[in-house]
Parts: sequence; C-alpha cells; structure tokens
Amino acid sequence: MSALLEVSGVSVTFDGFRAINNLSFEIGPAELRAIIGPNGAGKTTFMDIVTGKTKPDEGRVFWGEASRNLLKLSEARIAQEGIGRKFQRPTVFEDQTVRDNLMMAVKNKRSPFPVLFWKPKFRDNARVEELASEIGLADALSRKSGELSHGQKQWLEIGMLLAQEPRLLLVDEPAAGMTLAEREHTTDLLKEAAKTRAVVVVEHDMEFVRRLDCKVTVLHEGSVLAEGTLDHVTKNQQVIDVYLGR
Ligand code: ADP
Repeated sequence: MSALLEVSGVSVTFDGFRAINNLSFEIGPAELRAIIGPNGAGKTTFMDIVTGKTKPDEGRVFWGEASRNLLKLSEARIAQEGIGRKFQRPTVFEDQTVRDNLMMAVKNKRSPFPVLFWKPKFRDNARVEELASEIGLADALSRKSGELSHGQKQWLEIGMLLAQEPRLLLVDEPAAGMTLAEREHTTDLLKEAAKTRAVVVVEHDMEFVRRLDCKVTVLHEGSVLAEGTLDHVTKNQQVIDVYLGR
C-alpha cells in the first residue's frame, strides 16, 4: 500500500529552536492514526506543516498517488487537494440551524472547477441529510446550532468538514470537554470516517485513544519516539519517561 502522506526528514526551527527535528512517518489512504506526545512535542506544528501554514526549513512532504511535493502548495491549494483540519474549538454558525450549517458546507465544497460540480438542490438536501445521519444529528437538523451541546457542535463541525470530502482529515483533541457518551460517539464517528479517508487525531486522552483502536505515533521533541499499537507504545520505557509517567 502506498502512502497518502509521507513526511520525510522534515525540520522546523523557530528562533533557533528546533520544534520539528528530522520528522519522518507515513499515513495510509484509509488509515486512522492517533498522534500523542507531551506538550511542546510538535503535534500542532506537524498539523501546521501539513496544512501549509508553516513551511519547514528542511525535508519533504509527499502527497497522493503521484507523490506530489505538498510543501510547494499554498494553504488554499492544500485545502483544495482535500486536506481538512478540525481545530479544538468548534466554529459553527451558532445562530443558524444544523441544516443551514451543513448546507453551507455542502454548497461550499471546494473545487477548482465549481461549475462542473453544480448539483441540483434536491441532491444538496440529500447530502445534508446523509451527513447529519453520519454525525448522529439527523434528529437535530432544525435546531439552532448554538443550542447544541459541546459534543454535538464538534460533530457538526466534523460533518461540515466531511462535506468537503477530504482525503485526509486532521482532528485536534476532539475529546476535550466531552462527556463519556459524547467521547464514545466521537470515536465511532471518526472510525467510520476513516473507512473512506485518512483521519489523523491528536489527542491526550488515553482512554479515547484506546477506543480508537488504531496505530499510534508518539512525538517527542519534534521526532517520532515510538510507533505501533497503544499497548506497544505504552510499554516503551522512553514513552513512559517523557510522557506517561509524569
Ligand atoms: P504541541 O502541539 O505538541 O504541544 P507545538 O507544535 O505547539 O507542540 O510546539 C512545539 C514547540 O515549538 C514548542 O516548544 C513551542 O513552544 C514551539 N513553537 C511552536 N510554534 C512556535 C512559534 N510560532 N514561534 C516560536 N516557537 C514556537
């Protein structure tokens, strides 16, 4: 299986400080991956690189079947390529309904040739309903988004990102502030999303990562410290020393 994303020897220096240090790893095309590691390990900077917000000083990032150099593309172009990012705080339009939020995302689906992707309204409605059931908000379509729980707002935002049909979805600490039931639903949702695209989740909540049941990459000082199943990496003495045993 060839990788969807290949990070190769990437380094980023901020004011003489190496935030990312010769980082290399790969993500498969329909893979769910968790990234863990202590504060300052470089998790956010990694996501900034992949979305084009930060350009590294060294290294390459290859993308897609043709292994294109992602670092040559602008942030906007990278989004068009199908890389979506979910920040920690949900940013839905609170005074609009769930349906309106999803409809906006469906209509805005990024495309270099919008006219070729014009679809009649009934198709948009069907897509909105499909997304709402995918994220577990089919019964909440008419509700104002501001009235949703924190977890429901997170799902709505994930739904809005899925409307863009990303090939890679980066999700930053989805479990933060969620109830146990919401966390369980979120793992199901992310697992389902990862059946047809790559999903990379940065998370501190180890129970949440356990439920994701996927390969885990541990970052430390801007490099990969360990990689494998959660059981495998949590037995690694270095991982215990720098992250788990604190
Ligand atoms: P994480 O998300 O794992 O907590 P970050 O990627 O946010 O780690 O940060 C990695 C390191 O780089 C930290 O030491 C942080 O202080 C530093 N850093 C991140 N962004 C900047 C910046 N814009 N300028 C200077 N230092 C930065």
